[in-house]
Amino acid sequence: GALESLDMISAEDLAFDRHHIWHPYTSLSAPLPVYGVASAKGCEITLSDGGQVVIDGMASWWACIHGYNHPTLNAAIVQQLSQMSHVMFGGLTHQSAIDLSKLLLEITPERLDNVFLSDSGSIAVEVALKMALQYWIGQGEPQRDRVVTIRGGYHGDTYHAMSVCDPVGGMHGLFATSLPKYEFADIPQVAFGQSWDDRDLDSLRGILGTLGHQVAAVILEPIVQGAGGMRFYHPMFLRRVREWCDQVGCLLILDEIATGFGRSGRLFAHEWADEYGGAQPDIMCLGKGLTGGYLTLGATLATAEVAQGVGLLMHGPTFMANPLACSVAVASVRLLLESDWRSNILRIESKLRSGLMPLATMPTVKDVRVLGAIGVVELCEPVDVATVQKALIDRGVWVRPFRNLIYVMPPYVISDRQLETLTQAISDVVRN
Ligand code: PMP
Repeated sequence: GALESLDMISAEDLAFDRHHIWHPYTSLSAPLPVYGVASAKGCEITLSDGGQVVIDGMASWWACIHGYNHPTLNAAIVQQLSQMSHVMFGGLTHQSAIDLSKLLLEITPERLDNVFLSDSGSIAVEVALKMALQYWIGQGEPQRDRVVTIRGGYHGDTYHAMSVCDPVGGMHGLFATSLPKYEFADIPQVAFGQSWDDRDLDSLRGILGTLGHQVAAVILEPIVQGAGGMRFYHPMFLRRVREWCDQVGCLLILDEIATGFGRSGRLFAHEWADEYGGAQPDIMCLGKGLTGGYLTLGATLATAEVAQGVGLLMHGPTFMANPLACSVAVASVRLLLESDWRSNILRIESKLRSGLMPLATMPTVKDVRVLGAIGVVELCEPVDVATVQKALIDRGVWVRPFRNLIYVMPPYVISDRQLETLTQAISDVVRN
């Protein structure tokens, strides 16, 4: 009937997609297969081809923390839509932007005092780097134009963000002549949960010591390195970086775009460093889960000192502080805070552990690690994405591997049974 035809994507349209539409990180000359989606609800995605339902292990790349089609989030958007979907932010303001900014300042470190709302995670990083570089110009220290980071990081695909992504995994080779050249310290070797060894800081300490007053900022993903390799490092590393930033007098930018809003087991991943003396940022980036995965929105938060020092910030995207995005972000953050998210993340963590850890003994598996609602199976060899993808879908789950990593970060609404199906499917595929 009518419903059915709405849900189906025709073979012609799929062929059109294949020949004319770019998907993330693929080539149009040799595209990877894509699966049509008819709808999604809770932790389930309904595929258009035959109506197969798959359990979502990805939360649409960390974003969809409350699951799809959530009544509270839907209602927030509808409410905002009835007032206005968008209005320029130059010279105008609106309640949703104000409510969201108040809320973000309430739940992030006390020292963060100012909010820049932009269109995506990458842009939140662009704005953070602009702020840092401009701050030092304003301070009369324009020689502070070096940015320092660690290998294995990922901060987005726009130009400046690319320049601080891992130089091997990122686009540094292709754009070598035009990318800003920044400094990369070694990947932290002491994993989360291992015993701390201060030598882990040697490389970064060396760079900061040498560059000293040339360093504008250090930028890091706190605790969890995401798309650059899915590694979890020791909170003491972050604490020591904070100490070294203070010593050198540079700013610390924390990219909480993937890790924010409970994913790692703390509301923000840098809070893992609290027990070690703390590692609060001068500038912090948010995105992804900020809107519960509904709409694209980034936020860059800064201390009053940074904000005052930056002066006139020459950035103002067309869709800055988009009201629909802000309204659903407010609803999403409130929904999270009103829930017992800590014990829920612990529940997911323990299910991921029991489901995935047994794989660690497989000869094809290099490492299995779990932190909060993130589970990672690192294989010895890269996977054939198309084949593994199909095998996982045949087992009823949506998981998107990359390189040698099969990893999950499901919506927080995932049930125990769904978690069992998810980890069982991964086990089957890894064991075969
Ligand atoms: N920083 C981190 C840590 C990310 O994981 C991502 C997204 N994968 C980004 C920045 C970029 O965000 P966006 O894709 O929304 O531009």
